[in-house]
This record gives sequence, structure tokens and C-alpha cells, in this order.
Amino acid sequence: MTRSVFVINAGSSSLKYQLVDVDSGASLASGLIERIGETTGEARHEAPGIERVTERRVITDHEHAFGWVLQQLDRHGPDLDDANLIGIGHRVVQGGARFDRAVAIDDDVAQQIGDLAPLAPLHNPANLQGIRSARATFPGHPHVAVFDTAFHLTIPPAAHRYAIDASVAAEHRIRKYGFHGTSHQYVSRRMAELLGRPLEEVNTIVLHLGNGASATAVRGGRSVETSMGMTPLAGLVMGTRSGDIDPGVIFHLHREAGMSIDAIDTLLNKRSGLLGLTGTGDMRDVRQAADAGIPRAVEALEIVAHRLRGTVGAYLAHLGRTDAIAFTAGIGENSAPMRADALAGLEGLGIVLDPERNAGSGERRISADGSAIEVWVVPTNEELEIARQVAELVDSSGAE
Ligand code: ADP
Repeated sequence: MTRSVFVINAGSSSLKYQLVDVDSGASLASGLIERIGETTGEARHEAPGIERVTERRVITDHEHAFGWVLQQLDRHGPDLDDANLIGIGHRVVQGGARFDRAVAIDDDVAQQIGDLAPLAPLHNPANLQGIRSARATFPGHPHVAVFDTAFHLTIPPAAHRYAIDASVAAEHRIRKYGFHGTSHQYVSRRMAELLGRPLEEVNTIVLHLGNGASATAVRGGRSVETSMGMTPLAGLVMGTRSGDIDPGVIFHLHREAGMSIDAIDTLLNKRSGLLGLTGTGDMRDVRQAADAGIPRAVEALEIVAHRLRGTVGAYLAHLGRTDAIAFTAGIGENSAPMRADALAGLEGLGIVLDPERNAGSGERRISADGSAIEVWVVPTNEELEIARQVAELVDSSGAE
């Protein structure tokens, strides 16, 4: 019998959802509502066998958005009872040092998610808003929080502590948390399956390269190092985020350029990365510009690849023995040239790509037969991972 989980990713003015068949992994329905609370909202709903529904309308708040979703499910199916809905999974960005796995949401957990807001001011309050509205909309079902940070709580102190005054760090909960954990967990598990070996024996470097980008070193199924930090600003060069910079740049911009902290926050989070370097944050456009010979696009791609290569090198050292490198997310899954650039020159370290396999599509090995470390493209599926974690929790608690 079908069992499904309703997976929710709530932003401050958006709501993304997917009804996932836990056992087959199929999407039974999905959609996105944007510009909630604004004068021009847009709502989209899709399900297999129906024409995509798109409406421009005012959506006043998240509860209103859920009402719209229920209306679409009523009209176009699937029926939630027929789909045997067993629970609701909420993506929550910051779980702090407390949540090392998915948890059933009660009032206390909701409060703790709210208490973590200072560490993720843009995300946790929005996630919490989604949780509150969903609990009002689906009062009879278990709600589960799945944290982006949870997978990384296995990172040892030597890797998650920053070398600053320890009492300041403790007081303000400053440490590396890491993000994209759901994706890194899904891909590293899948990697072990694809290699046909037990998860505990496989060491993988996962490169999640989307608009946000992060790398994780996974030893035997456990994250031991990751490139994002206390916030998702650290690490690799991203669509609009700088990734690592000397923190001294911030003081310099404040003191010498007279920029406010908010302006620097916006600069580094929203106007940097590919966007800052080239004027567009979309990898496809940057690649097109580079192919047309535009120097700043060519240089931007070199910067992205340089950072990636250095990260891979560091993680090879941290893991000691690496079995596989897995590329995932929008750029990782689709950009053969970026994969090739990122690993160029690493042949001496046992990493050799096969150009023809690299140019293909779908889940596959892209390394050459003689490559000591296998390289793969493994499409991520965060919704399915969330749905599975909800199902596991519901099964183990006997909750209905
Ligand atoms: P998000 O982090 O928002 O989930 P995605 O994982 O969807 O982002 O990745 C978005 C990025 O993937 C964009 O930079 C986009 O240009 C890039 N991308 C998508 N398809 C391709 C492609 N065929 N070639 C190169 N880049 C691509």
C-alpha cells in the first residue's frame, strides 16, 4: 500500500511542497507559492497526469497558502487518504548543536527552533511559520523537523571549532554547523549503494553545487568536515555568496568604505559569488559568456574551479583514503565543464575523468576505468530523504 509524506520547505515569503511516495520515491504532487504577503503572489501546482496549474493571486500568509494547496489537491488529486499520508516533513535550516537527527515536532521543539533564530535569522523564523501553519492545516498528522545541520553534528571539534576566544564562542554558539546536510546524507548513502559496499566502509567527498554550494567529507556515512560554517556564507564560491574571504575584509569595508554591517551582509550574501564577479548568478549564463570569450566570465569560472580543487585536496587529506567523489545539485549534475575544471590536474592523486562519460547525463560513473578514486554524478533528492526520515520516525514511534 502507498505511504506518502508531505514535505514542506517554507521561506519567509514562499512555500515549496511535495507529496512523496516514500517507498517508490515518486512525486505524487508538488508546487511552489511565491511572494506570500505581497500584492502579486504566484502559485503553481503539479501532479502526474494533470496540466500544471498556475495562478497569480494574492496569498496573504502561509495558512492561506496551505488552504490553496488543499484546494488543488481536492480538485486535481491525489486524495490524501488514498495517498495514505503518514506525516508532514519540515525542512528546518538550523538545528544548532542539539538536533542531530529528525525529531517529531511538539510545542517544545517548535520553541527550540524559534530559539535558534539568532543563528539563522532569515531561515528559522520562516521555517517556524511554515510549521505553525501546517500544524493548523494538518492537525491530525505527526509533524517532523528535518534539519539541514543535523548530518554535520558528527564533525569532530578540531574541525567545527573556530580559533577564537572560547568563552565568546560558547556564549554565542559560534561554531561550524554546516548545511545541505539532507543532500549530503542522501548522496553519500546512495554512493555506497552504487559502489555495492556497506556504508560504514565507504569514504566519499560530496560536492553539492547549486545556487548554494557546499562540499562534505563523509567517512563511513558520517560527516567529518564540510565547507559551510556557522552560516551558509562560508566555503565555496556560490551563485550570489562569496564563500570564504578574509574576515578582515569586513572590517576594511566598514572602516574604510563606510559600509554598514547590513550593507556588507547584503554584499557578501546577495551580490557576490558568480553574480558579483560577472553580473549574473546563473552558471548557464556565465558558461555561455565564457564560451563567447568574455574575460570576466572566464576568470569567474577559474575562481570557482580553483576553490573547488583546493577543497577536494583538503578533503582527500582529511579522509586519508577516498573511495569516491560525487557531484550533485544543479551545477554538479549538469555542468560537465565545471566538473572537469574542478578535478583538472588531480590525475596524480588518482582522479581521472572519462570525458565521454562526463558528457553524458543521469546517475553514472564519470571516472575512467583506471581511476583509483571513482567519480560519480549522483542526482540529489532532498525531498525523498526528508520523506524517508519522517517515515522512519513515524514507524519507530508507532505514531499514526
Ligand atoms: P538551488 O541551490 O537553488 O536548489 P540548483 O541546485 O537548482 O539550485 O542549481 C542552480 C544552478 O544550477 C544554477 O547556477 C544553474 O545555472 C545551474 N544549472 C542548471 N542546469 C545547468 C546546466 N545544464 N549547465 C550548467 N549549469 C546548470
